Amino acid sequence: MSGTPHGRSRALNGRERVRPRRPEWAAPEYPPGAIPLPVLAAGALSAPGSAQTTERLVGLDRELNGPGWSPEMAELRERGAAIRRETLADLEGYLAQLTGRVEANGGVVHRAATPADGRAIIAGIARDNGVSMVVKSKSMATEELHLNRHLEEEGIEVVETDLGEYIVQLADERPSHIIAPAVHKAQADVTELFGQAAGEPVADDPNALASLARDRLREDFRTADMGISGVNFAAADTGTLTLMTNEGNGRMVTSQPRVHVAVMPVEKVIPRFTDLATLLPLLAHAASKQTLTVYQTMVTGPRREGEADGPERLHLVILDNGRTRLPGTRYEEVLACIRCGACQGACPVYRTMGGGHGYGAVYGGPIGAVLSPLLADGAQHRQLPFLSSLCGKCYDVCPVKIPLPDMLVDLRADYERDRRGGRAARLAWRAWAAAWTRPLVYRMSLRAVRAADRILGQRLLSRFPGARVWTRTRALPPLRRVGAFRAWRRKRA
Ligand code: SF4
Repeated sequence: MSGTPHGRSRALNGRERVRPRRPEWAAPEYPPGAIPLPVLAAGALSAPGSAQTTERLVGLDRELNGPGWSPEMAELRERGAAIRRETLADLEGYLAQLTGRVEANGGVVHRAATPADGRAIIAGIARDNGVSMVVKSKSMATEELHLNRHLEEEGIEVVETDLGEYIVQLADERPSHIIAPAVHKAQADVTELFGQAAGEPVADDPNALASLARDRLREDFRTADMGISGVNFAAADTGTLTLMTNEGNGRMVTSQPRVHVAVMPVEKVIPRFTDLATLLPLLAHAASKQTLTVYQTMVTGPRREGEADGPERLHLVILDNGRTRLPGTRYEEVLACIRCGACQGACPVYRTMGGGHGYGAVYGGPIGAVLSPLLADGAQHRQLPFLSSLCGKCYDVCPVKIPLPDMLVDLRADYERDRRGGRAARLAWRAWAAAWTRPLVYRMSLRAVRAADRILGQRLLSRFPGARVWTRTRALPPLRRVGAFRAWRRKRA
């Protein structure tokens, strides 16, 4: 332990004072399905500061995704997409090769079929090694395990060391973006949080805030017994685990504590070490338009004799959670994801909701709307594919060309087919399609709606079953102007 007066990490002092302010929908976890999706989404939309977050995200999207793909980066994108599909064509083969290489390098490999298995494996490693304090670098796979809560219940203190993760841990929230966990927090929010943690007002200055976090975390890096990290890419041919960070915390977490546990979902394996030459710059470019992230940490086994640092023991936990059911299905390509977060920032729905909390799943945005319902514990997320405008921008920005819009449509169809009352809905859609593919019926139906609008008025019309849900948050379009587009086009022709 770090030996603070309260027996807690210096980095987390005061966290209890912050905890009651957390809104329920931003909780680190809650019983799955306990809060219905529309309630979650409405909560996120009306959260204080969500409009400012939307504004920030829109600006960021313009800055990052505005220029599109240069010819050089487009070529890299093609190569990256091909490498990821090559991996998926023999996922189990590459995982077996990776396991053999990591073990030959002196590490221990565990396969976790479910999040519960993952939690039990990591808690067991902590117990076997007498661990009382863990430092963590950012890992979405551990979010899938709800690992922090579980380790804390085991009496183990956990400190997040990525600055964004540290902020959301102080606020007792969940990350709202894959690579920018605290993207929903404004500078003033961080100043307030840090002030509460420090027990005194702190300067409202980004450099001062970063220094404060660095100072408080440094002691924890030195004294922690175990480091837990994610894995960006695991090379099957050498057993090398690569982590990309901009803050260097990944390097500290994997080299200072005596035990290192790396957690990766099955799809993070890549065939060859040399593939990193394509994938590292591709990921950095897609995520933040950097040429490379500031630190590339490569771990090939625990510390060897004569080496100055590194852990005495290395464990690799490979998480499945239903992923190995996907190869061979039409959702296989979702496993090509390299977690850059570009599709999240590009998505108008994600941006409007002010981040990922409104999705109620570990992964928000387009990738979350596709991946979350496909995971073994994803039954409660089957409505997520409807949180999309299907504008297609998620595909345009995706560095590995995952056809997310197609998958969103397919997942919606699966949901409608399986849900109760789906037969009636199917018949209604079929009738609608039959009517609107006949120009005469189409024109007559528009005339009927316009007449209804004129006679009944918008307020009455909005009480109709189909329009009721729509008009809860929006106004009906001005129906009397239907046809204006045609008139405009005729004028220009
Ligand atoms: S789906 Fe594509 S854009 Fe979205 S996080 Fe994954 S790799 Fe990035």
